[in-house]
Parts: sequence; C-alpha cells; structure tokens
Amino acid sequence: MTYRGRFAPSPTGPLHFGSLVSALASWLDARAHGGAWLVRIEDIDGPRTVPGAAEDILSTLERFGMHADEPPVWQSQRIARYQAAFEQLKAAGLLYPCGCTRKEIADSLLHAHARNTTLAYPGTCRSGLHGKPARAWRLRVPEGDAAVITFEDRWQGKQTQDLATEVGDFVLRRADDQWAYQLAVVVDDADADITHIVRGADLMDSTARQIYLQRCLNVPTPVYLHVPVVTNDQGEKLSKQNGATALDNDKPLEVLSAAARHLGLEMDGNERATLTDFYATATAAWAKRMGVQTQRSKRKEGQV
Ligand code: GLU
Repeated sequence: MTYRGRFAPSPTGPLHFGSLVSALASWLDARAHGGAWLVRIEDIDGPRTVPGAAEDILSTLERFGMHADEPPVWQSQRIARYQAAFEQLKAAGLLYPCGCTRKEIADSLLHAHARNTTLAYPGTCRSGLHGKPARAWRLRVPEGDAAVITFEDRWQGKQTQDLATEVGDFVLRRADDQWAYQLAVVVDDADADITHIVRGADLMDSTARQIYLQRCLNVPTPVYLHVPVVTNDQGEKLSKQNGATALDNDKPLEVLSAAARHLGLEMDGNERATLTDFYATATAAWAKRMGVQTQRSKRKEGQV
C-alpha cells in the first residue's frame, strides 16, 4: 500500500490549536506509515473564506515543520471536477432538485421533533417540486438496510449511521449555488488517491455520507481516524467562531508539545530541543499509540 494522507483546512482564519491537533495527527500518521502528506485548502465556501487566511495557515504549517510532499491543492481551482461528479450522479438518477426553504425544513423538523420521529430531511421534494422553484440539489439516500453505513474508526472504534433516519437526502449543490463540502471532499480525496483520512471528531457525523457518496461515485473508501476535538472552558469545540486565538508562531515547540499531549502521546522529555527531535519522538509515540508498524519497528523485528 502507498499511504497518502492529507490535512484539509478551511481558510476561515489563522490556524488555531484545534486545527493544529488535526494537522499534527495527520502528519504523524503519514510519517509513521512512511507515506505522503498533502495539504488541501478548502476555499469553496465563499461566504466563510477570509482573504489571506490560507496563506497564513500554509506559512504556520511550514514554520511548525510540517512540509507537504506535494504543492497544496485549492478547492476553488477544482470546480470543474465537482461539476463532473454532479453530472455523473445526476445521469445515474441519484439527484433531485429541492425547493424547500430553510424555514420550511426547520418547521417540518420541529413537527417531527414534537412527534418524536425522524430528524432527517423529510424528502418533501423527492416526488417533485410541487410548483416551487428549484433551490438546491439533493442526493437520494436508500431505505432500509441499504441506508445503514458502518465503518471502523481507528481511534473511535465501530461507527454506524442510518442515513435514511438520521440524515435524509442530503444537499450536494447548495441554494446559494456553492458546491457542498460533502461532494467536494469526496471528489478531492479520490482524485488525490488519499488512502487514510485523519481529522477531528467533529467531522465524524459526515463520514457515513461521504462513504455513501464514494459508493455512488465508484471510488475507494479510505481508512478513517477521528481524533478528539479540542474544547474551550465551556466544553464547546474550539473554533474561530468562539474565539480560538491564533497560534504563537514564535513558540512552535511549546505549541506542538501541547498538541501531542492532547493526543495522549507519551513524550520522553527530549522533544523540546529542536523540531527534528520533536517529530522523531512524536512519530514513535504515535506509532506506539495507534499500533502502526513503522519501518524502524519492522527492522527491529527482522521483517525487512
Ligand atoms: N475543511 C474541513 C475543516 O476545516 C476539514 C475537512 C476534512 O478533513 O475532511 O473542518
């Protein structure tokens, strides 16, 4: 196997501690496997993208010693690929236009909640637009057993989601004419031959949708690992929206050591000298924690 991993930040602000933890985990996993590590800038969500944030993230990664093995991929350059995947799904009869407004969906979910039934999109436009103008495009999810997606997460263990009852037909092309994250991420990971996805557990809930989309597009499913998210004092996920501060670029070793601690890595105290020492110690600690057989451990055991 040729391991290919990636870090895929959204340029909504400078790198903060929570995103650094995801970057570090994906980097260490790639290094432990002797694989490649790529960076993708997820800059298709126009309203959320902050000018200059992508460059800022890329320079912080460099400064912290995480060098990508290939030039970064920018989602904004790949619109034609999303369009092609969309056409493929449409030709297969898997998509339909949806005319529901946010308010209509919220209202129907409220009713569903009151009746204690499904919180998934109720499928109002499955049978047609009922005279409403098309706003978004949705992917039809199957019913019954076919809707149940199960996968083994390397950190969190076995995961199961019933797409029909927990998610419903989901949006691939948004009402504001933007490509949905779910479609872009699946197309990008497939085109880059990504074999392993390491990211924050806040994305766990998207994984079943992405696996289903991979099946619809006939592309391989990577191996997943979701690391625990970093939370603030109120127990909320650290994000640019709730005031996460930019990292101290002058203290990469201190910040990286804190990220390694968050990942529960057993460090030996020698890692504070240089970035090279830090990465050597952290990679070995990650390999031990995650049970990755490194070239070094294979050599020790006489396997290579
Ligand atoms: N761009 C997403 C984020 O910053 C990550 C996407 C992914 O790793 O799949 O939350």
